[in-house]
Amino acid sequence: MQTDTGFSFSDIVAKANDAVIVAKAAKDKSAKPRIVYVNAAFCRLSGYSEKEAISKAPGFMDGPDTDPEALAKVADAINHGRHMRTRLLQYAKDGTTYWVDMNIMPLFGDNGEITHIAAIQRDVTADVLREQELLSLATTDDLTGAKNRRHFMERAELEVHRLRRHRVPFSVVLLDLDHFKQVNDTHGHQAGDDVLKEAVRRWQLGRRPFDTLGRLGGEEFAILLPGADGESAMTVAERLRAVIAEAPFDTIDGPVDVTVSIGVAEAEDADQAIEGTLGRADTALYHSKHAGRNRATKASPIPIAKRAAAGKKD
Ligand code: GH3
Ligand code: MG
Ligand code: MG
Repeated sequence: MQTDTGFSFSDIVAKANDAVIVAKAAKDKSAKPRIVYVNAAFCRLSGYSEKEAISKAPGFMDGPDTDPEALAKVADAINHGRHMRTRLLQYAKDGTTYWVDMNIMPLFGDNGEITHIAAIQRDVTADVLREQELLSLATTDDLTGAKNRRHFMERAELEVHRLRRHRVPFSVVLLDLDHFKQVNDTHGHQAGDDVLKEAVRRWQLGRRPFDTLGRLGGEEFAILLPGADGESAMTVAERLRAVIAEAPFDTIDGPVDVTVSIGVAEAEDADQAIEGTLGRADTALYHSKHAGRNRATKASPIPIAKRAAAGKKD
């Protein structure tokens, strides 16, 4: 469109660096809008040609990992004739994914009805990847790659909330390497570091994706097991014990035999907070140490009298 400003708005849209998509609203409300315009930046970003995009429904770049909540908000904004902005994961023609910061705006006809929906998408993939990397650095222990104490505690607090709200059980397994000071003293600090790294590597191998392994400090680790009761946590603990004891650790100073002592506790309401559950796991761990190390002990449930004292019914 040439205006009296002496330039063409359509040229700007066509040549913009941001992807622009315009869809025509369907007359029948139950039908989907259909794309009637895409600019060159859209084709570069998505890998689809103009011909391939025209007449498709606007959501055709969404895929399995596109956040359904964000999509629902987009649909809601369109239905109510509102402008909205969101971040969205999109799928290019070759299957690769990219992140866009998307502005969606309904366009209205003379009678106030929505005639078109326009979307402007800016590629923010580099920003999102950098954010994800920073987040990972902020939550990870440098030496071993396990989650750090702060992140572990945050995850554990979420489980306390789920237990209280939705009665979803969870357990914690506390792990402390045996005679680790001796490993350092005999083989050197570097060999000690090698042992810490290898222990985490062995534990990570069998870990379910939603279990969190954290380094709480020094040679002390913990695994958070969402959904696990004390019995199944003991099964996990036994496996974690066995993978440490079953074969010597390769270190800079040669092979080193390592064992681990373990305390297991299923969270209870009367624990009040995660510190209570960890405290009971720590007492169980202390029993493992005193019973000769290289073993797992389950914390006993909180006595009924103490539960009552904590202000809870049995
Ligand atoms: P126990 O069987 O009773 O647990 O004995 P332990 O020797 O493992 O326990 P103690 O707490 O006496 O010693 C822990 C040692 O862990 C002491 C400390 O120097 C060492 N340590 C803590 N963090 C690191 C680390 O990042 N690297 C190395 N190499 N050693 C560490
Ligand atoms: Mg120790
Ligand atoms: Mg210790």
